[in-house]
Amino acid sequence: MKRLLVTGGAGFIGSEFVRQGVKRGYRIAVVDKITYAGDFMRINDIKKEIDIYIGDITDRKFMESVFKTAKPYAVIHWAAESHVDRSIIDASPFFDTNVKGTQILLDISKAYEIERFINISTDEVYGELGEEGQFYETTPLNPNSPYSVSKASADMLGRAYYRTYGVPVLTVRPCNNYGPWQYPEKLIPMVILKAINNKKIPIFGTGQNIREWLFVSDCVDAVFKIMEKGKIGETYNIGSSEEKKNIEVVKIILKLLKKSEDLIEYTSDRLGHDFRYSLNSDKINKQLKWKAKTAFNKGIERTVKWYIDNMVWTNTKLAHLEKYWNTVYKKNN
Ligand code: NAD
Repeated sequence: MKRLLVTGGAGFIGSEFVRQGVKRGYRIAVVDKITYAGDFMRINDIKKEIDIYIGDITDRKFMESVFKTAKPYAVIHWAAESHVDRSIIDASPFFDTNVKGTQILLDISKAYEIERFINISTDEVYGELGEEGQFYETTPLNPNSPYSVSKASADMLGRAYYRTYGVPVLTVRPCNNYGPWQYPEKLIPMVILKAINNKKIPIFGTGQNIREWLFVSDCVDAVFKIMEKGKIGETYNIGSSEEKKNIEVVKIILKLLKKSEDLIEYTSDRLGHDFRYSLNSDKINKQLKWKAKTAFNKGIERTVKWYIDNMVWTNTKLAHLEKYWNTVYKKNN
């Protein structure tokens, strides 16, 4: 049974990775600090089948002790501060966790001669696109937000540790994920939660910004492919080709919930808001025979249903979210 060390395994995508990993027969050790975004409820159903370590990836001593006991064959590094708008309010935790935390993990992976280090990055490291074009794995990095700069820095660290010390790093750049268990600060669950409660739905600017949407279980499936069959030292984009304007996404959700578009409230735009991201995923399609399976119209239906069925969990986040929403969204004058 191969042993994996999964950082951020109590987060949105990390928890789906842990669930699929258990099904695929891996022995999994999860490290998670349980920030506002982390929640062990996400993996409560499999808690007896995994090893859980609560702690901070920036704590070197703690992480060394985890590596010593977990003896992983591979590290799958999901842990991060992951929300752009929070990085605009305060960038510090992003550089602590995403940069320093990654460097510590790479250092220890080098010492323990880990066989694979899967460094989870994002499409946002490439910067922004206009109406046309795509990002390739070879596109130069041009990040614009404090979040994407911290992730690009982590990518560069991975590159340096591979090149300098031969740490077996593979870099993965997924587009926007959505699906069950996503913390409702992100667009899709935020819209669902607000709409269910008949609350105004704040949308940055005019809602014309374009994102590429990937169902979370498809993303995780791709990461397993990359971990098992990808080439060390390489970078893989994971896209779905499902590009949508933010406002289109909001209207699709409102239609599914049979709610009025009058709930939409345009707010002042996000500072430095990237217009469009779009990944070229030919490399993973051709080399690893991976393609996203879930069409957006199916994935969004499943997601909306999941939030309706799991309002108890979502409502536990409301008090924390109300304060946050009041800080981020400013009404247009
Ligand atoms: P998330 O915010 O839901 O989860 C992050 C997890 O990391 C949480 O459980 C949190 O408690 C944990 N964590 C944070 N700081 C930590 C620390 N210092 N030590 C230990 N644990 C810590 O994030 P997500 O949406 O699941 O994203 C996972 C990864 O995928 C991130 O690296 C993110 O940058 C990347 N990514 C996400 C998306 C997306 O659409 N969500 C898209 C592309 C890439």
